[in-house]
Amino acid sequence: MVILISDAFDPGLPEILSKYGEVTDDKSRLPEAEVVLVRSKTKVTREYIDSAPNLKLVIRGGVGLDNVDLDYAKEKGIIVRNTPEASSIAVAEIAFALMIALPNHLSVADQSMHDGKWLKKQLKRTELYGKTLGIIGLGRIGMEIAKRAIAFGMKVIAYDPYVTSNDFAEMKPDMKDVVSIADYVSLHLPLTDETKGIINKEILSEFKDGAYLINTGRGKTVVEKDVAEALKSGKLAGFGNDVWYSDPPEDSPLIDAPNVLMTPHLGASTKENLLRIGEIIDRIIGKYVG
Ligand code: NAD
Repeated sequence: MVILISDAFDPGLPEILSKYGEVTDDKSRLPEAEVVLVRSKTKVTREYIDSAPNLKLVIRGGVGLDNVDLDYAKEKGIIVRNTPEASSIAVAEIAFALMIALPNHLSVADQSMHDGKWLKKQLKRTELYGKTLGIIGLGRIGMEIAKRAIAFGMKVIAYDPYVTSNDFAEMKPDMKDVVSIADYVSLHLPLTDETKGIINKEILSEFKDGAYLINTGRGKTVVEKDVAEALKSGKLAGFGNDVWYSDPPEDSPLIDAPNVLMTPHLGASTKENLLRIGEIIDRIIGKYVG
């Protein structure tokens, strides 16, 4: 059996998987591959599947399956698995890092020191303590950030039409009920037909003035030009963003918008997460080979 590792995983993974067959990262061997491992970079499209006649199992290391054509895979009898439980802490921590860094001006402060400036008087910080965090999409990652926010003395509210109650956040029936009172809004949404562009001009006008927005879910859940406008007008005080329309972004209006703190889709990229993903992949392939 040929196992093709198509994206970046823990360097120890090929050795762990070698008990199942030949492990390669040579993408030209896709036609021979029975198992393909991807993260978000490889797009398992109809064309990709058509060029892999031996493919039986696709494992997406991570959560979102929006880079896999699930309908076509099903039609071709290809099993698709992901590792959703692995990444929650890694993503919650980067969302929290963005939420701490924005009101503390960490990026500007650091750059100003490199530039030989002393902005002690100019940089006014605000605290997370006592503020309200609004979580949109209260799944695995949303819950992890809720727990961390409570530890920081924040009030946590959330909107998720598929979650009725939980121990960590007060659920609101409408997204407007969250964004109109939240000082911080953190997006933890999958990309679906329903969530594409859900953060647009209309909902942004309902946000509390001077709120901070953080997105570590999927880039296309926000309309970038509308968020850039909200930043320029001061409606949003800042935007912490890890996820993009494409990796890397092309012509994003966010790059030049004010008060944007950007990371290059680092949410899942912790050493610990890659090790957890590797362990789960080992179990999935073990079960597959019986
Ligand atoms: P999850 O499935 O546990 O949670 C997603 C939640 O969103 C669910 O509770 C669901 O009910 C809710 N939801 C769906 N549609 C909604 C809507 N229209 N309005 C409000 N809520 C809605 O998934 P998770 O593990 O928490 O991951 C969330 C997302 O984070 C993933 O789908 C993925 O896109 C993203 N992610 C990003 C990174 C990164 O590197 N930045 C890494 C992992 C996951």
